[in-house]
Amino acid sequence: MIPGKKRMSDREIFFRHLALTSFEPPALQFSHAEGIYLITPQGEKYTDLSAGYSVNNLGYNHPRIIEAIRQQAGLYLHQTVYGEFVQSPQVELASRLVSVLPPQLDCVYLVNSGAEAIEGAMKLAKRFTGRHYIAAFKKAYHGSTHGALSIMGDEVLKMKYRPLLPGIVFLRFNCFEDLDLITPEVAAVIVEPVQAEAGVIVPQNQFLKALRQRCNETGTLLIFDEIQTGMGRTGSLFAFEKYEVVPDVLCLAKALGGGMPLGAFISSKTIMDTLAHNPALGHLTTFGGNPVSAAAACASFDILKESRLWESVEEKAHLLTKGLEEYSAIRELRKSGLLIALDFLTPELASRALEFMWANRLISDRFLFCPSALRLSPPLIIDAKEANSVNQTLHQILKQLGDGKTMD
Ligand code: PLP
Repeated sequence: MIPGKKRMSDREIFFRHLALTSFEPPALQFSHAEGIYLITPQGEKYTDLSAGYSVNNLGYNHPRIIEAIRQQAGLYLHQTVYGEFVQSPQVELASRLVSVLPPQLDCVYLVNSGAEAIEGAMKLAKRFTGRHYIAAFKKAYHGSTHGALSIMGDEVLKMKYRPLLPGIVFLRFNCFEDLDLITPEVAAVIVEPVQAEAGVIVPQNQFLKALRQRCNETGTLLIFDEIQTGMGRTGSLFAFEKYEVVPDVLCLAKALGGGMPLGAFISSKTIMDTLAHNPALGHLTTFGGNPVSAAAACASFDILKESRLWESVEEKAHLLTKGLEEYSAIRELRKSGLLIALDFLTPELASRALEFMWANRLISDRFLFCPSALRLSPPLIIDAKEANSVNQTLHQILKQLGDGKTMD
């Protein structure tokens, strides 16, 4: 700092020297976090109903995750690029994951993020099938890198970034007719088993089973993006279990790392081996499977498996949302476990409700492709008392909001 010059406030630096993703971020500032709460430097507690966008499934600062990070940090932070040395945290994590997955998902490629898992899965499908078309769904979100953007099912966010990948076919979710667009030229279909950023759209009438069937007929790989639905959020460890459809490739990230950056795409050994020969080095990452992240992921996986938290999410979702659909401002309440969309009659009502929520120290946000809905996706550790208390506050907010007709 230049002597005599007054330091800018954190907020000023945030707006001036950190790149923004929008001009209207909430810009709240927290100094620490605990359980389901984010806490300001003044000690005000905010209830996190977003869980860092489905990352903090076990809440904040779980002592076993912190301890695993500490221990691994004392051994080594990084050795070399992914895939060269045998690193125990990666081995431990892969063993854990394959122990709970069907036999055809027995080979794990570790990356850093959700978008990277998607990129890897798309490349893998092209490499294995020798085909270059990819089918994706309208209103799907798979990440913001060029490949992931190409399969984003929304025009607004991608139109300024063309040219993108060619050969992408878009289907309507829950539309059986569109399954005919999956032809033997299509390398892979990529789908979120529950569409998250579309505003929590659940599959209807065995749609995922029909999709699996069509992929079997055309020799197309089925990729499930469980980056948001995985690790217990929708009421089973992975959403594919709930819908009894096993994908050829499973993408994970977000809650996988227990709060640390980590992603994975998982397939069979036969499919995955295609990345390693003719030519070798088909997919590379320096930091993928970072040992500290992998150690945190192991601890997080163990806690989740021991506690079987996914078994209580339906009940918690019920407590959280009890009676909310009775209000005239609400058009619909859509739920898949603790992935919940509170859909208002208009985006304006949702905006107003969001302001009320922040004022009442509840953290929520919108969905990317459903501006009229607010997300309720708290950490899975939220207890009955906390869920009831949030429910009461939401009732107060909705009463205050009315039907929006009297809003100034
Ligand atoms: N897939 C889904 C379903 C997501 O919700 C997201 C992020 O919100 C991604 C992929 C991308 O993950 P990341 O932000 O880690 O790249």
